[in-house]
Amino acid sequence: MITVKNLTKSYTLNESQQLVTPADHQSLILQNVDWTISEKKFVALFGKSGSGKSTFLNVISGIDKPDAGKVFFNDVDLYSLTDFELSQIRLRYFGFIFQTFNLISTLTAQENIEYPLVLLHIPPKERKQRTQHYINAVGLEGFENKMPSQLSGGQRQRVAIARALVKDPKIIFADEPTANLDEKTADEVLKLLVDLQHQNKSTIIYVTHDQDVMRYAEKRYLLTHRQIKDYANV
Ligand code: ADP
Ligand code: MG
Repeated sequence: MITVKNLTKSYTLNESQQLVTPADHQSLILQNVDWTISEKKFVALFGKSGSGKSTFLNVISGIDKPDAGKVFFNDVDLYSLTDFELSQIRLRYFGFIFQTFNLISTLTAQENIEYPLVLLHIPPKERKQRTQHYINAVGLEGFENKMPSQLSGGQRQRVAIARALVKDPKIIFADEPTANLDEKTADEVLKLLVDLQHQNKSTIIYVTHDQDVMRYAEKRYLLTHRQIKDYANV
């Protein structure tokens, strides 16, 4: 489903970030990474803070272009597409869940969830049905008309989860989705995602430094030393 070949990614550091000499201006995050994920599974990618997890997720989801190498979604070479084609793939097939929720603050919970379906030109009746289904699935009945600022962190993340799932994506990219939540809420949100993944048989690529996810993950990888390793072999 996602295959990466010989992927390399670095950042050019600005002057204040150049640690040693001016020649030390490149920060290498990923080096010649080969990786593939084909099954409909709950996939966890672990790694220390700063190891490059968000960078990797952004590269494989078409948000951030690598320096070298290719990213394939099924047989489509993502970075050979035009910006428009790439945005259409992301809109149709990819769902995103972020640490900071990233809801639209001027829309209600229900409108946030429905919004991707508006972009996809789904007719209003079907939009309403699908939105209501996911409001129920994430347990937000009664909170549909609240603004994000009127919701708790856990409720906001439930909105974000519903928004990601409502378009029935092939892959969900989740970047430390429970990092801003208290322990109990984090556990509830994690279990919700695990349940929904089992029901929908989608693929979740769940990036975290939280070892609690270990017991739910069906595939486990570790990002370390600019490489992705199978956790079983580490
Ligand atoms: P993680 O998500 O594992 O915490 P990141 O992918 O966010 O790691 O970052 C990996 C490294 O790349 C860090 O050292 C970070 O400071 C650096 N980095 C991330 N984004 C940028 C950027 N836009 N410009 C320069 N350096 C960056
Ligand atoms: Mg990160």
